Amino acid sequence: MVNNELIKAIQAYEAAGRILEPGQEDREHMAKQVNRYCDGFLDRVDYVRTFFENGEKAGPLRNSDFSEQCTIEDILQDLASQLEEPGINTAAGGHLGYIPGGGLYAAALGDYIADVTNKYAGVYYASPGAVNIENSLIDWAGRLVGYQNGFGGNITSGGSIGNLVGIIAARDAHELKGRDLERTVVYSTRLSHHSVSKALVIAGLRECITREIPLDNNYRMDVARLEEQIKDDIANGLKPFLLVANAGSTDLGTIDPLQAIRDVTGQYNIWMHVDGAYGGSFLLLDDYRDRMKGISHADSIVMDPHKGMFLPYGTGIVLVKKLHHLQNAFVYEAGYMQDVKEKNGPVSPATVSPELSKHFRSMRMWLPLKLYGEQPFKDCLREKLLLTRYFCEKIKALGFELVTEPELTVVAYRYIPQTGDVNLFNKRLMELMHEDGDIFISSTTVDGCYVLRFAALSFRTHLSHVDRLLAMFERQLPKCISEFH
Ligand SMILES: *Cc1c(COP(=O)(O)O)cnc(C)c1O
Repeated sequence: MVNNELIKAIQAYEAAGRILEPGQEDREHMAKQVNRYCDGFLDRVDYVRTFFENGEKAGPLRNSDFSEQCTIEDILQDLASQLEEPGINTAAGGHLGYIPGGGLYAAALGDYIADVTNKYAGVYYASPGAVNIENSLIDWAGRLVGYQNGFGGNITSGGSIGNLVGIIAARDAHELKGRDLERTVVYSTRLSHHSVSKALVIAGLRECITREIPLDNNYRMDVARLEEQIKDDIANGLKPFLLVANAGSTDLGTIDPLQAIRDVTGQYNIWMHVDGAYGGSFLLLDDYRDRMKGISHADSIVMDPHKGMFLPYGTGIVLVKKLHHLQNAFVYEAGYMQDVKEKNGPVSPATVSPELSKHFRSMRMWLPLKLYGEQPFKDCLREKLLLTRYFCEKIKALGFELVTEPELTVVAYRYIPQTGDVNLFNKRLMELMHEDGDIFISSTTVDGCYVLRFAALSFRTHLSHVDRLLAMFERQLPKCISEFH
């Protein structure tokens, strides 16, 4: 006999938890407030100052315990003071540091749909529709890099996890065992992204021998030196395993000679991984597809749509030329998954990824691509390339020198003062630029030289932002010069 008390208790808790399922009026109210907040943010984003040094404005969160209920109005007000001023406004067109992206509004609406429907995009059986959407993007990206049939891929949280997945697929394809590692060689350059060495560590490949192949005069992997090194290694009883090439290095935007690299890796049975986290999106442009010729032969490729396709953070893609290499690396079995039949149907993301439950992240990419088509993305990238050219001409006229002519939309440059230490001068200039903060740029070190970096990739970055940056230099450079006098 069911106890009446039990039913009553269940009903009481049901009523108490009801607040988690707001009715239409409450939903509308909340959505309206959030919309108003976002509209305000977007109204200002084009002209606000881009950078406030950390902590300048951010106080501690006013109330960081969760014992009380707050109104949406109060929360949003608090949020504005936390989110908008401190640090870098990474959604703004004035963000010209690191590698920008932006955050398309349509992508946010895609996320909204993904989150409300909460479709489970890990397994075809659970949501054929969500998985089909996910797979259609993998297909699209695969065709973009020039893969034919039989490739696989995964929508990851970004380039770091993409590199990790590619490297794990490589490890298992070569059936590396612990005892082999000390004789196993990985080739990269000093411009390889640090997420690659991190991925090697996570993948258990810390003990591999790593070779930084020298760069040529244009900061691209020197393929002749690569081949010499490989021959040397083989002669010494070592086993060449993996090569990581850049399709757009983060520091300089340089593209390694992928075709020549592929000829070498093919000859020596080395897994070729191309890190296109920054540069991959430029494959949308025919002339860049030409420059990256050879990428279609890579065994694995990473690109980051949260960079060159302006999506919100948390969207990367990894592609592997042979699907079975991915499947072998991420195979799983679990009793409680026994209803899931995988035999010949479409590939389920969970079977080619370290993730099981996952965000339905393809929605944020699929919706903007459907809405706008590819063309505006191409136009936007083309605009950034031209803005980069414009910036180079202007900055040279101000007396700066470039490390190398840019191949994509990153420029590394420095000022050579008449007297004093060049590195210290440029470091000080960077400080002054950050104190100013109207536009945000970052810096890096190339061959021991401290250099400033310009990176145009946000869809919101236009001529007016580059002009604001140049105006900043006109304000701050004379100050720096007089300090060093
Ligand atoms: C940004 C970047 C990464 C890392 O990608 P995340 O999305 O930040 O994890 C890797 N490689 C290159 C070349 C990059 O520019």
